[in-house]
Amino acid sequence: MKHITMDEWMKYVTDDVDESTRSKYETHLYDCDHCMDSYMQAIELAENALPTVTNPSEYTEEIIRSTAEINSSFQKQEPKRVVRGRWYEQKAFHYALAVAMTLLLMTTGVFTQLTGAVSKFEKSNQPSLTESLMNTTTSLINRVEEETKEAE
Ligand SMILES: [Zn+2]
Repeated sequence: MKHITMDEWMKYVTDDVDESTRSKYETHLYDCDHCMDSYMQAIELAENALPTVTNPSEYTEEIIRSTAEINSSFQKQEPKRVVRGRWYEQKAFHYALAVAMTLLLMTTGVFTQLTGAVSKFEKSNQPSLTESLMNTTTSLINRVEEETKEAE
């Protein structure tokens, strides 16, 4: 038997066939997986293309509900709250940056000591080097806190 085309299934789904055609399609559907697939696709297409408005108020509710769902799923990712979220992220980022800078400076200091290449410089300048390292770190953290206050 000849398969029923997608166009024909669309007609069937949208109730655009006469009774004999309908029963012919339905009989075919019982023993044809291929057409069952087509039929399922036709249902999906029909649902997306032309929603049947059998109950207008129910249909409106459905739209409102799905819109609300879209909005709420949107809100989880984007909107107003995100401003605060991003701000906290920034704060964390600045702190992380300050810590990273401190670690970098310390590592550099340790590395310099290990190489011994500037051991003379180290000996004569150790206190001021440590001091400047401390100052840099402190000013970094101070700046982060000032920025944080400004953001608030
Ligand atoms: Zn078939």
